[in-house]
Amino acid sequence: MTTEAPPKPRDFIREIVEEDLAAGRTARVITRFPPEPNGHLHIGHAKSICLNFGVAGEYGGQCNLRFDDTNPTKEEIEYVEAIEHDIAWLGFSWGDNLFHASDYFDQLYVWAEELIRADKAYVDSSSPDEMRTMRGTLTEPGVESPHRNRSVDENLDLFRRMKAGEFPDGAHVLRAKIDMASPNINMRDPVLYRIRHATHHRTGDAWSIYPMYDYAHPLSDAIEHITHSLCTLEYEDHRPLYDWLIENVPVPSRPRQYEFARLNLNYTVMSKRKLLRLVEEKHVSGWDDPRMPTIAGLRRRGFTPAAIRNFCERVGVAKRENMIDVGLLEFSIREDLNTSAPRVMGVLDPLRVVIDNYPADETEWFETGARKVPFAKTIFIERDDFIEDPPPKFFRLSPGREVRLRSAYFITCTSVVKDNAGNIVELHATYDPATRGGDSPDGRKPKATLHWVAADHAIDCEVRLYDRLFKSENPEESGNFLDDLNPQSLQIVPRAKLEPSIRGAAPFTSYQFERLGYFCVDPDSTDDAIVFNRTVTLKDAWAKVK
Ligand code: ATP
Ligand code: MG
Repeated sequence: MTTEAPPKPRDFIREIVEEDLAAGRTARVITRFPPEPNGHLHIGHAKSICLNFGVAGEYGGQCNLRFDDTNPTKEEIEYVEAIEHDIAWLGFSWGDNLFHASDYFDQLYVWAEELIRADKAYVDSSSPDEMRTMRGTLTEPGVESPHRNRSVDENLDLFRRMKAGEFPDGAHVLRAKIDMASPNINMRDPVLYRIRHATHHRTGDAWSIYPMYDYAHPLSDAIEHITHSLCTLEYEDHRPLYDWLIENVPVPSRPRQYEFARLNLNYTVMSKRKLLRLVEEKHVSGWDDPRMPTIAGLRRRGFTPAAIRNFCERVGVAKRENMIDVGLLEFSIREDLNTSAPRVMGVLDPLRVVIDNYPADETEWFETGARKVPFAKTIFIERDDFIEDPPPKFFRLSPGREVRLRSAYFITCTSVVKDNAGNIVELHATYDPATRGGDSPDGRKPKATLHWVAADHAIDCEVRLYDRLFKSENPEESGNFLDDLNPQSLQIVPRAKLEPSIRGAAPFTSYQFERLGYFCVDPDSTDDAIVFNRTVTLKDAWAKVK
């Protein structure tokens, strides 16, 4: 028997978790995914979800879903439901561990009073402008507020009256009393509570003060006994405050925060604020527009949970910011659909072909894969599979040339019919009955195999072809990302011709259209009118650059 060394953890977070488990610092790993319900989840969130739920699952722990609902003015119940749906769809379960920062408002308030009593927090009545000026800069220390040395009693009285709703928004804030000269601006007496006369989607009008994220987050982690609080790099500078609060509040556990690099994708904007603008200003049809990098958009585009999880796995978890090629995301879905999506034939830009020597009233049904495809005298082929006067490297159909129709027969083009303007409207051809099924007994091998659809059996479908939503790799570079929108990001084919086997396909069903790409049934479809979204083309740009 050989004893193999255990496999090395995949990333630095898993390394830390394994060390903590091995050293007994952690009995059972507990992570959390903490979305703010102010927008839909995007592919960047998927990375965080895969990490938090993944780590918990791999080490026999638990991952909580905690809504970070500390900002009543921007949050909506619609987002809460969408977020839960998206996480479950991605394949992760929080079990009974669904929490809200607002569940802890009472406890957070009690702890704030304790900080005041310990002279570690005070009510500041400076205006926002004054506070900004006194905060200092990266190179200059801040200045202490004239209210910093209020007595504990005065602070308690003011804070209680803030809570009671006696003051208008912005009249006072509660601040931690740390160090106005700290080189870390987050430690210069950060605001812990602000007055907000707003209705909260869970607590209603019970509160007129709301805790800041930086205050609520570490304490919520501690209440839930989170062991490893995983967040993105921009919170690195907030970690001293995180630790200060854990140190100075009598919390029931001591979570630690670890930062990893957020996911950045080229040709994509990811901030919820910008995605919201795209939706509100109607540059896209909604949060689930298939061009959006949201989970809902990717789902509608035809992405599968497995493809998204594999993508996140490939991207990995690192400590340094980087830019991921959106081609990798496309590669991940192609790889999945290549094995799972049934192949069908469809023609996006139909050109009619009449096979003169084929009987007019005959239909043959060719079995290919698990389906039957009808063949008849009049078929459609793709318009760009024919050129009347072909250049040297063009091997598809042209006058006098023979090609294979996939799974059917060889045909040879005999003549071209044009309208008065000279546009090609129809081709005539002959077929070779000896090539039934798409093979010739004499070993003839046409250089091209075309997809086709029998005209009388074809189903008309709308097909939506998507391209990248932005023209440049970094849409934010130019200043206004909206100036970089790609005007060609959606092209609608109103009447593509599809083989009849797709009749009745349910929304979100994926197919490979032979030679064209992967397509998915849009939820807008009805029994009479099927709409397809192109998920990706077949061409794999990413594997080539790799
Ligand atoms: P945005 O900047 O898009 O508004 P956010 O960080 O404000 O995102 P939250 O709802 O607070 O959105 O995010 C929930 C969790 O998802 C946080 O832990 C956050 O760090 C993580 N997250 C957000 N964006 C990314 C990303 N691009 N890559 C990895 N993790 C992310
Ligand atoms: Mg956030």
